[in-house]
Amino acid sequence: MNARRLASVSVDLDEIPNYFEIHGLGEPAGRAASLVYDLALGRLLSLADAGRFPLTLFTIGRDVARQEARDGLRGAASAGHEIANHSLDHRYDLVRLGRDEIARQIEEAARLIEEATGQRPVGFRAPGYTITDEVFEILEDLGIAYDASVFPCPAYFAAKTAAIGAIAVRGRKSRSIVDTPKVLLAPTRPYRIGTPYWKRGTGLLEIPVQVTRGLRLPFIGTSVTLAGPSRARLLAKMCIGEPLVNLELHGIDVLDAEDGLEALRPHQPDVRVAHARKLESILAVVEELRTAGYTFVTMQQAAAELS
Ligand SMILES: [Zn+2]
Repeated sequence: MNARRLASVSVDLDEIPNYFEIHGLGEPAGRAASLVYDLALGRLLSLADAGRFPLTLFTIGRDVARQEARDGLRGAASAGHEIANHSLDHRYDLVRLGRDEIARQIEEAARLIEEATGQRPVGFRAPGYTITDEVFEILEDLGIAYDASVFPCPAYFAAKTAAIGAIAVRGRKSRSIVDTPKVLLAPTRPYRIGTPYWKRGTGLLEIPVQVTRGLRLPFIGTSVTLAGPSRARLLAKMCIGEPLVNLELHGIDVLDAEDGLEALRPHQPDVRVAHARKLESILAVVEELRTAGYTFVTMQQAAAELS
């Protein structure tokens, strides 16, 4: 076990229609539908340059059908960023699709991403952080090196469960599904999964989504960008001491309403924050961690060192 303090920044490249789906809003119009690849990806790559850290980009397989997306990802891969697997269609109900279809969702995404970028993805993150023992068995069969889906965060769990309920009350149907509360028993540091997956064992390496020490607050793009730079630094400080700090962002974390996301403004407070301020918050966190002695690596590199 290496004693180096490691940090990573990953980004789930969920395209805008996924957010419309979460809020039960139908299809986005015009250029909004592809803002993550057409605008956010470039901002993220500039941010990574400015902050001198590599990105791990969790990519939805079906999105690489667009030439612009393929070009963007190929450029990112050749600049040293990791391209990882975020399933073929980002089905929020992935875990309910049955073994053959789950395997196809993972395998087909890997194939398309490799075809587009020349990199075979070795890491996986499930849509909506929802995972099961069955999905883990499939990941092991497919030779995936690490999973990064478990989110043992009481605040997030409560918020997600409440949001799905609230959307149902308003008569729309969210595509998100409620997870088992057992996930809250999972370790908060990287671990080898057992059976069930929230127990330690000798299976696949799990790199949980980051929570702070103590209160287990979510240390993710939404919380960091809503906090603003100085409170984001405090959140980062609450993670210092962990062997690996992995900040999970989404493409939308570097976009704002004025980029063409007005329709999401009433539903997502993060969309109301100007993107320049969001970038500032993310850089503040990176700086805080680096000052505390953290070295930034891709999740693949972190997984290799942790193994
Ligand atoms: Zn996602």
